[in-house]
Amino acid sequence: MITVFSDRHRLRNVKTELSGGLLVPPHECCERAEIVLERVKLAGLGEIVAPDAFGLECSLRVHTPDYLEFLAEAWTLWAAAGNAGEAIPDCWPARRMLQRRPQDISGRLGFYAFAAETSIGAGTWQAARAAVDVALTAAQRIERGAPGAFALCRPPGHHAARDLYGGYCFLNNAAIAAQYLRDHGAARVAILDVDFHHGNGTQDIFYDRADVLFVSLHGDPSEAFPYFSGFADETGCAHGLGYTLNLPMPRGTGFEVWREALAAALRRIAEFRTDALVVSLGLDTFEADPISFFRLGSEDFASYGRLLGEAGLPTLFVLEGGYAVAEIGVNAVGVLAGFEATR
Ligand SMILES: [Zn+2]
Repeated sequence: MITVFSDRHRLRNVKTELSGGLLVPPHECCERAEIVLERVKLAGLGEIVAPDAFGLECSLRVHTPDYLEFLAEAWTLWAAAGNAGEAIPDCWPARRMLQRRPQDISGRLGFYAFAAETSIGAGTWQAARAAVDVALTAAQRIERGAPGAFALCRPPGHHAARDLYGGYCFLNNAAIAAQYLRDHGAARVAILDVDFHHGNGTQDIFYDRADVLFVSLHGDPSEAFPYFSGFADETGCAHGLGYTLNLPMPRGTGFEVWREALAAALRRIAEFRTDALVVSLGLDTFEADPISFFRLGSEDFASYGRLLGEAGLPTLFVLEGGYAVAEIGVNAVGVLAGFEATR
């Protein structure tokens, strides 16, 4: 399987994450991608290529123009305003307040953020754009007939909504890739999100559509980030009613139960008769993940990779979360190698 990787991910190298009332080194760090890349090489998964440069057109198919404009200039405006640290929002348009975009950059951060843990720094926009190029280059391989491809994206994307960032995500790599496949011949595309956290951004983007099925396995949002999205009774709206499937699971969920949910997800995907599958590949279901509460062991990742392969679909894997940094490579490549073993 081909892996697409850009060293421009290192441009996102922020120093702060707001956590537990402190500014701590971010869980979503450069080492994550480097360790996955090393494991891809060590396992001999296949060719590793740099991405082609795509313009912003594909991103504009799922994000709003004003949101992209904000992301492009956020750091410059924040620094020009004389702020000493990295850009963090501190005020939101909450219940009964106006949803009106402020001029001031601090207000604008709150307007476009849904959470405060995710600092914006000098290279954030450039790295986010490179991650989109990675996803699109891999999607192009699928479009051209590859049975599988791995987009080693960083920063991740599945929390980024049409016009909202947070959860370490800015541009929704998986959603942009799915839309690309739709725009290049696929009549139907399914997105399976196996990250521990609900893919609220991907859900938001496709919530009213019947041509892109969104299925997510994740920690119950009554106990887990992003808290306000991912409940089982969120099933889509308008034309998209019935094309979102959320399978939340409680604290301590192990592989036996998780695998049952995956089987249900794959049944729904088979019923949808999709032309391609995009997997939002988060590894934070791992038992040692520092910010999650499922109990999958390393051997379980290879096991479910085989189940994904047995679905027999052209499959684009897009890297999302996973914060047990030392094991992220073994677990990611476990899924990919399991998938490859079925081909
Ligand atoms: Zn996650």
